[in-house]
Amino acid sequence: MLKVLKFGGTSVANLEKIKNVSKIISKQRDEGHDIIAVVSAMSGETNKLLKYAHKLSKKPKKNELDMLLSAGERITSSLLSIVLNEHNYKTISMSGRIAGIVTDDKHTNARIKSIDVKNLKNEIKNGNIIIVAGFQGITYNTNRVSTLGRGGSDLSAVAIAGAIKADLCELYTDVDGIYTTDPRIEPKAKKLNKISYDEMLELASSGAKVLQNRSVEMAKKLNVNLISRSSFTPDVEGTLITKEENIMEKPVVSGIAVDKDQVRVGMFKVSDKPGIAASIFSSLANEDINVDMIVQTVGVDGKTDLDFTIPTNDFEKCKNVMEKFVKDTQKIDYNEFICKISIVGVGMKSHTGVASKAFSTLAQEGINIRIISTSEIKISMIVEEKYAELAVRALHEAYNLDK
Ligand code: ASP
Ligand code: MG
Repeated sequence: MLKVLKFGGTSVANLEKIKNVSKIISKQRDEGHDIIAVVSAMSGETNKLLKYAHKLSKKPKKNELDMLLSAGERITSSLLSIVLNEHNYKTISMSGRIAGIVTDDKHTNARIKSIDVKNLKNEIKNGNIIIVAGFQGITYNTNRVSTLGRGGSDLSAVAIAGAIKADLCELYTDVDGIYTTDPRIEPKAKKLNKISYDEMLELASSGAKVLQNRSVEMAKKLNVNLISRSSFTPDVEGTLITKEENIMEKPVVSGIAVDKDQVRVGMFKVSDKPGIAASIFSSLANEDINVDMIVQTVGVDGKTDLDFTIPTNDFEKCKNVMEKFVKDTQKIDYNEFICKISIVGVGMKSHTGVASKAFSTLAQEGINIRIISTSEIKISMIVEEKYAELAVRALHEAYNLDK
């Protein structure tokens, strides 16, 4: 097989760990696979470099930051290549430029436009293990080094896997796969063998933080089979993230995610006329506040209730924005101590009773649900934060996720 293996910052955090990664690579090589490894900077390295720049300047130029930050990944790629050589494996390390990764001109947050796989293909043909510095490319117009935004080396790996039509893209981190829920909350959580792209995206946007959404979206678009697994327990098979069609037995519910970083904003008796919602949400958008759930009821007597949630980080900013709307409503109510519990599963599309089971499970525990919203494969509920763990465990059991 042709495999792209990606190693995150914690997997290459020091020389011992880099040696450990070299063993994972050499083992796969011995099994006969062609390998392109994509690496992150050693953990903490990118932050350290950023700090240097900010000590010297309040506003360093973004193209210089890219030049600086891209060095972190290059250090890892060459070190890994050097260890593998030491064990008589033929390798070649590549910067993003040599690997053919071309991006737009948005320094520090560039998007990949195209990948010229010529060098990659040639070096595979030459029998080399290729080690690519992740997180970087070169700009299309100006031919400068660019970086893809924090956590961007996952994207490099997925994009390369898609461009070169690799059989698999394995993302190595410090967790060994995707679980039915957070094992720190529910020790009976089970690792999933497979999960669809859409379920993974819903879980990630609902608070499960294993994989970056942008890379799962790209994997879906490019049809890349992703595996999430750990470099610390390489013998444990990870979780395959793939097309729904590749999953024969579709579970009704695949996982439960919790997001405690949410604040609920309630507006009571808002004037029920065109333009109010537009004006509220465009003001929030102008401040870059990412609104998550929005619920509005049917108006009575020209008034309606409007509830929405925002990330805790944006709370202060949001309160400022909402000042403007005090006159349009009877009362604005903020609730910081809430959390969002989301139940995700493709099987919901074809099964009934999934939502009612969630509600009755929480009712039995005496947990009041403040907001409910559903999509095709997700049911989200806002409950008081103090009930987060209890709710997750009860739901995990109700849907038999430990079986
Ligand atoms: N080193 C970069 C960061 O820390 C990219 C990555 O690790 O994926 O954000
Ligand atoms: Mg990282």
